[in-house]
Amino acid sequence: MSAPTVFQVDIAIIGGGIAGLWLLAQLREHGYDAVLIESSALGAGQTLCAQGIIHGGTKYSLHGQFSTSAAAIADMPALWRRCMAGAGEIDLRGARLLAEHQYLWATQAPTSRLAAFFASKLMRGRVEKVAGSTALDMPAALQHPRFRGTAYQLDEPIVAVDSVLAVLAERYQAALLASQGPAILKADGSLTLHHPDGLPRVMRPALTVFTAGAGNAGLPWASLQLRPLHMVLARGTALPGLLYAHCLGASDLPRLTVTSHYDAQGRLIWYLGGALAEEGVARDRAAQIRATRRELRTLLPWVDWNAVQFATFTVQRAEARQADGRRPSGPGVFRDGRVIAAWPTKMALAPLLARQIEALLPDLGMRPRPRDLSRLADWPRPALGVYPWDREDLEWS
Ligand SMILES: Cc1cc2nc3c(=O)[nH]c(=O)nc-3n(C[C@H](O)[C@H](O)[C@H](O)COP(=O)(O)OP(=O)(O)OC[C@H]3O[C@@H](n4cnc5c(N)ncnc54)[C@H](O)[C@@H]3O)c2cc1C
Repeated sequence: MSAPTVFQVDIAIIGGGIAGLWLLAQLREHGYDAVLIESSALGAGQTLCAQGIIHGGTKYSLHGQFSTSAAAIADMPALWRRCMAGAGEIDLRGARLLAEHQYLWATQAPTSRLAAFFASKLMRGRVEKVAGSTALDMPAALQHPRFRGTAYQLDEPIVAVDSVLAVLAERYQAALLASQGPAILKADGSLTLHHPDGLPRVMRPALTVFTAGAGNAGLPWASLQLRPLHMVLARGTALPGLLYAHCLGASDLPRLTVTSHYDAQGRLIWYLGGALAEEGVARDRAAQIRATRRELRTLLPWVDWNAVQFATFTVQRAEARQADGRRPSGPGVFRDGRVIAAWPTKMALAPLLARQIEALLPDLGMRPRPRDLSRLADWPRPALGVYPWDREDLEWS
């Protein structure tokens, strides 16, 4: 049997979610010889399951503490907006915003009102109180005489995640490689990739960066935690229009987070997370749908929820392990020799993660060195993944 073809690259990035794609874009813009290998489809891990909210930290300040995570996240909305306008660290022109603002909506419960109060004090300048249920800036879904509570407009845009991935995939297409199975790291630092012709290929990177989400689990020195969610999708003409909002409960976790999307057939979808999805992990599908109907009837009682269909699915968030098992306050980056493993913690934090990784490169002897990618021209390119609401295996009822 002939020896497998060997490719040399300076930096191989494993995993084409938002973390890997952002890093690839940044490194290539700065002249590094970087390529990205994806074994499934771009965004097919957590990224296309994201609600698309570019957090500015508000939801992390609900209990009166401006935590490390809020400080790190605060600049992200402006940074993403600059990139989408073509004036940022990477060029995201062509990517779309679904909405300019996420809302924070406090129900009448005293604990909830208190949490909203703290949020508004701490986040002055980044939170605007909406005057009342008839105010023009009140989301259409909440403009109802029976709406009770207070709404705040956050400086947190919502991106169409597929459009971000599509822009990056097109711009850096020549540096994207599809592997028919997971890229495997050998003890000598080489990578085994699976070409569709059935013959394995060997890549010898000077540095390998795993941004493989749950796929980083194979690296024992990069300790991973998985936190599950039981997300809910709702569709039907009874949905009261577009809504992008966190509904505040008593804790620092919104009781419900709603974002709105359109499926491939143009139907409006409400995508529901927050405490409903965290606590829903203990419920099976039927119980989760019952809990969702109860919650929605309580919060938006004027909507005919019997006319709405629901589907659910579970997904794991992959992050750096924390002693208390809670969400890390920022990206997690680990290194073992010439291999890095990283998790952004939030899609919104992919730019911070890319900066942190790039800052390690000089000490590892890595320098910008633009190289022609024609040696990889024959590789197939990974496809874009699909949104959860367009999956064919979902059961709606
Ligand atoms: C339900 C949900 C909602 C969320 N909402 C938001 C939100 O609104 N805002 C926000 O900022 N964040 C949100 N997040 C968090 C955000 O989605 C993640 O932090 C982010 O997408 C992680 O991106 P990633 O690139 O690290 O991982 P992933 O998106 O999981 O990508 C990893 C990729 O690596 C590939 N891969 C794995 N192993 C290998 C291998 N050996 N070889 C080659 N490829 C491999 C996988 O196929 C996958 O494509 C949400 C997360 C979930 C689950």
